[in-house]
Amino acid sequence: MTIALRFDPLRLPPRCQELRREVRAFLAEEIANGVFDPEHPESGSANADAFARRVGERGWIGMTWPKKYGGGERSFLERYVVTEEMCIARAPTRRFFVVDRQSGPTLIRYGSEAIRQSILPRAVRGELCFCIGMSEPGSGSDLFAVQSRATRTEGGWLLNGSKIWTSNAHQADYMIGLFRTAPPTKENRRHGLTSFLVDMKTPGIVCNRIGMMTGQRDFNEVAFTDVFIPDDHVIGEIDGAWKQATSELAYERSGPERFLETYGALAGLTRIAGAEPDVRVAAGLGRLTAQVHTLRRMSVSVAGMLEQGREPVVEAAIVKDLGTLWEQALPQRARELSALIPASDDDSRERFGQRLSYYLKAAPKLTIQGGTTEVLRGIIARGLGLR
Ligand SMILES: Cc1cc2nc3c(=O)[nH]c(=O)nc-3n(C[C@H](O)[C@H](O)[C@H](O)COP(=O)(O)OP(=O)(O)OC[C@H]3O[C@@H](n4cnc5c(N)ncnc54)[C@H](O)[C@@H]3O)c2cc1C
Repeated sequence: MTIALRFDPLRLPPRCQELRREVRAFLAEEIANGVFDPEHPESGSANADAFARRVGERGWIGMTWPKKYGGGERSFLERYVVTEEMCIARAPTRRFFVVDRQSGPTLIRYGSEAIRQSILPRAVRGELCFCIGMSEPGSGSDLFAVQSRATRTEGGWLLNGSKIWTSNAHQADYMIGLFRTAPPTKENRRHGLTSFLVDMKTPGIVCNRIGMMTGQRDFNEVAFTDVFIPDDHVIGEIDGAWKQATSELAYERSGPERFLETYGALAGLTRIAGAEPDVRVAAGLGRLTAQVHTLRRMSVSVAGMLEQGREPVVEAAIVKDLGTLWEQALPQRARELSALIPASDDDSRERFGQRLSYYLKAAPKLTIQGGTTEVLRGIIARGLGLR
């Protein structure tokens, strides 16, 4: 059976323009106060905690969540605008973007009422950082090969094993982690995995930092030794977490953060090209701009589907695949085009070069994080009934 793809054309409603102005004004103030510098991709780390709380005060974390948990009951399209502006400005969102994007919605859907009441309002205030514990040394794309296990003990579970590539685990308050609670069955190799809410301060957890090419040290290998998790920290169905993972990934894969990570290379190139660029530079800039515009329309369309309560898994995978390929190729393309631009008297060229150097080093990871290109294409093919 072939399944039709739907990317309904959608324009952001007028209320989003007002919100965009508010977010821009807020970010401009933060930049003016020296909280972060959009020209320096990794600036702002030291201020990320306080920044998260100020974003929380504005009501921009958990915007789509129910009011009874502190959320704003606003639309996915409004949330889209906030995320987009934060990405373009390269604001230090690391404390809250995981909980806002996927852990919070997962808890709303599958967490116990007590967990929702105790965790979500604090997350909305920007007080909690979450990380994602899926990948393991022997299992990345193939999550159903997860070996880290949770075994029954009185009043809960004991976790043992290790997770790897866990972004921000060293500073996270909580992880939503996938652990094996039973072996797979013959009929269903996806059976036997359970999601747990893990308080990262629980004894028995050790985070070992792993350096990245960019010089950042956000990655971790997280070791678990007899880590006690109370029963009410099981998220969803015991042995049935595979049913939950797909909706979580639709949230993870389609947002503007999936094509704007190196956007600064295009913005910087446009700046150094000046008002009357060489015809080849103008053509290159035009092409890149048209491409990012198209990606954006597709991504907004997915946000519209999430708004309608749909699970656009295939469409989200397409946005992620095309988006990460685009943002991965962008720094190299920007470098080629910049060679056609005459040197200037000011330091703008040097600043562009510094920025580009970071983006070139960040580019290889983009088609791996959040699902590799090859794996996404498998999902797309299956969704289209081709495999
Ligand atoms: C910046 C970054 C941040 C990350 N953050 C997190 C995080 O916070 N939490 C977390 O759990 N994980 C995280 N990851 C891990 C990431 O999700 C995995 O690395 C990714 O899923 C790939 O797994 P792997 O590295 O084990 O590679 P493998 O799965 O071993 O893949 C190796 C190669 O084989 C290909 N391949 C694998 N399976 C198939 C298939 N079925 N068909 C065709 N080709 C295939 C892949 O495309 C890849 O090229 C992060 C990764 C990066 C780069």
